[in-house]
Amino acid sequence: MNSEKLQKVLRPQKLLSAPQFIGGEFHQGHGAPFKIVSPWFGEIVGESVEANQLDLDRAVEKAQQVFPTWSQMPIKERTQVMFRFREILLRDMDEIVHTISLENGKLLSEAKAGVMKGIEVLEYALSLQNADQGGKIEVSRGVFCEYRREALGIVSSITPFNFPAMVPMWTIPIALTLGNCFIWKPSEKTPLTSYYIAKALKEAGIPDGVFSVLQGGKTIVEAILKHPQIKAISFVGSTQVAKIVYEMGTKNFKRVLALGGAKNHIFLLPDADKTISGKGIADSFTGCAGQRCMAASVLLPISDPEAQIEALIAEAKKIELGQTMGAIISREQMEFLKTAIGRAEKAGAKILLDGRKAAPPVGYEGGNWLGPTVIDQVSPESEAARMELFGPVLSIVRTKNIREAMSIENQNPYGNAASVFTNNGAVAEFVAQNARAGMIGVNVGVPVPREPFSFGGINESKFGFGDITGENSLNFWSDLKKVTTKWQQSTDATWMS
Ligand code: NAD
Repeated sequence: MNSEKLQKVLRPQKLLSAPQFIGGEFHQGHGAPFKIVSPWFGEIVGESVEANQLDLDRAVEKAQQVFPTWSQMPIKERTQVMFRFREILLRDMDEIVHTISLENGKLLSEAKAGVMKGIEVLEYALSLQNADQGGKIEVSRGVFCEYRREALGIVSSITPFNFPAMVPMWTIPIALTLGNCFIWKPSEKTPLTSYYIAKALKEAGIPDGVFSVLQGGKTIVEAILKHPQIKAISFVGSTQVAKIVYEMGTKNFKRVLALGGAKNHIFLLPDADKTISGKGIADSFTGCAGQRCMAASVLLPISDPEAQIEALIAEAKKIELGQTMGAIISREQMEFLKTAIGRAEKAGAKILLDGRKAAPPVGYEGGNWLGPTVIDQVSPESEAARMELFGPVLSIVRTKNIREAMSIENQNPYGNAASVFTNNGAVAEFVAQNARAGMIGVNVGVPVPREPFSFGGINESKFGFGDITGENSLNFWSDLKKVTTKWQQSTDATWMS
């Protein structure tokens, strides 16, 4: 597929398939079959078969066989595989981007941005060969202490539908570069992209068995969580499932990092430039059709924000379905969002912009469409203010001052992101210090940290220790061995001298 031709999402000529990848080969699973529905068309575009215990055991067995070779290979050699992996992803970008769009519903441009962000994490992993050298100090005469970073063994990642390539790429390159064998379980809603990632790693020369893909949902996740040979599990998805995964994984004595859902707040100060805040907030709540854990969800304007809200609505009105905003993942989720908007209206909120009335794009009438929706005068206790809806819906909760706004933000159970739009440095600093979120933006609607800064929230947006990317992920995917050495053969040089 070539870039000039790739302007729109095309219906595939035949059903696509999402196989397992085990021992360096693509296989059908031994579990139940399932269908893959494109949110653009509302039609089945692919099929797959869930992995079962047999498939998992085989992936683990292959990984066990190859782990000694892979983990003992010098990091510089493993990094060469990752260099080639990066080149292949860039070469195959159009096919990958089209597949992501087709199965997830997002725009081609958004799909590409996701892959590029994944590649940024890969580039961080490439730097580990030079940056992460452990450390060695002469701690007393002739006695040396050093750190040695060692791979854990077989690790696994369980990922959500909303970023079919980016979220997996948060973990795959770092965990592999550190010498682990890796079992990836993609979302059963978006399993097609995994084929391209496995194919690229194979072509890059990853030894057979080091990297596996198992398809399916709850059943295979539970098998992974119980498997005695799997040492560490990262999870990204809803808070409800993150809690299950964290509880079950740690009960089985695994290292678990489980990232959950979000309800992100934006503080809008009267001094903020209305053009900048309008565009920043509109992009934040409508990007990826609001289906991202960093999307703005609650707007907390302070005192008299009418002109700023008008500017925001004007920006949101420019959005065209299928052109500047993609589709909702499933028919059920679209219906859930529409009824949630209806419930907010019944509870007394005012709909300033109603996405339920938006016309679907021509040629994609069967898809799952909802336009940008802005709900004003939302009560801070209501569902629209507290619950993660996961769609292009912005709830405005009016506040009298920054302290009242902060108290509302602080009471929400999540803690992924919060942003402030202001020209006042002291107010920005107040938000950075007091908002209960792991990632803070100042005049930035989507405060995703760029590598090497790591990604991760707090509270019910993250269970476990560390972050999922960057430096704060290294101790999750490896052990630090401490070696104390004395080669000086004299009795007066002791461990404590
Ligand atoms: P989800 O929780 O439904 O699914 C995530 C993964 O868990 C999938 O692979 C799925 O197969 C598996 N799963 C589902 N139910 C399970 C169960 N009962 N037991 C075991 N495994 C199960 O999430 P989703 O709908 O795919 O993704 C959207 C959610 O992900 C949103 O809540 C969003 O905020 C969150 N998310 C969070 C981050 C973050 O960084 N915090 C990033 C992206 C998405």
